[in-house]
Amino acid sequence: MLIINAISKNFGATRALDGVSITVPSGQMVGLVGRSGAGKSTLLRSINRLETPSAGEITFEGESILALRGRAVRAWRARCAMIFQQFNLVNRLDVLSNVLAGRLHWQNALGIAFKAFPEADRARAARALERLGMLPFALQRAGTLSGGQQQRVAIARALVQEPKIVLADEPIASLDPMNAQLVLEALRRINREDGITVIASLHQVEAALQHCDRIIGLAHGRVVFDSPTAGLRAADIERIYDVTDTAEHASAARLREPMPA
Ligand code: ADP
Repeated sequence: MLIINAISKNFGATRALDGVSITVPSGQMVGLVGRSGAGKSTLLRSINRLETPSAGEITFEGESILALRGRAVRAWRARCAMIFQQFNLVNRLDVLSNVLAGRLHWQNALGIAFKAFPEADRARAARALERLGMLPFALQRAGTLSGGQQQRVAIARALVQEPKIVLADEPIASLDPMNAQLVLEALRRINREDGITVIASLHQVEAALQHCDRIIGLAHGRVVFDSPTAGLRAADIERIYDVTDTAEHASAARLREPMPA
């Protein structure tokens, strides 16, 4: 169980998080929705300790995450893997080496030659790639893959960390709809099959509804919506709370306009 208790985070005069409290049972898949600037990324980064909240408490299975220091923070980041919008792979390294980097946890990935990895790690990395449908690309340079393929490699890299939690910060924001679907299905599969808790920030309410157990809406650094997805429709959420950007609104409105004769 992950317990986030009244965390706040200020960046100068900006209050990115304002008293956020969320309890996430193990094995849940949570979609975090909200406009740009709502605080989604800051929340995920606070859980992972890439940011340190100004106030509040985070505990995981009874352990205080904000009290961790040094090596213990790095160990926590391994148990709490992060996936980013821009994939964060090393483009000039091959896919397998990128996945093996997930075994290093806290060492410099580039400093260690591929052959230095024990056979068990290489087998684990190959298995993770196979699960993500990426084994045929194992020896290809990561930079030559499509965005959707790179994101699946990033999920494989997260998997070999043997995490308890995967935090995904806008994992599909740079992808076309088909690849977005594949990536969310992959996250759902590791959630269901491995019991890994997944918390993903998603711009699209529909995607969150389709793949997540629960949707949490953030606005101005506060939780303004929190509900199981079962029985929910996008319109229910959008009625309570406007998650769409103005630009998206404008284009949706244009689509609804009658075609000129
Ligand atoms: P979201 O992920 O929902 O788009 P963020 O968590 O990135 O939102 O940002 C929340 C607010 O905090 C925004 O106003 C953003 O500009 C601000 N913010 C985030 N990170 C920083 C930072 N490192 N320095 C200054 N302001 C930041």
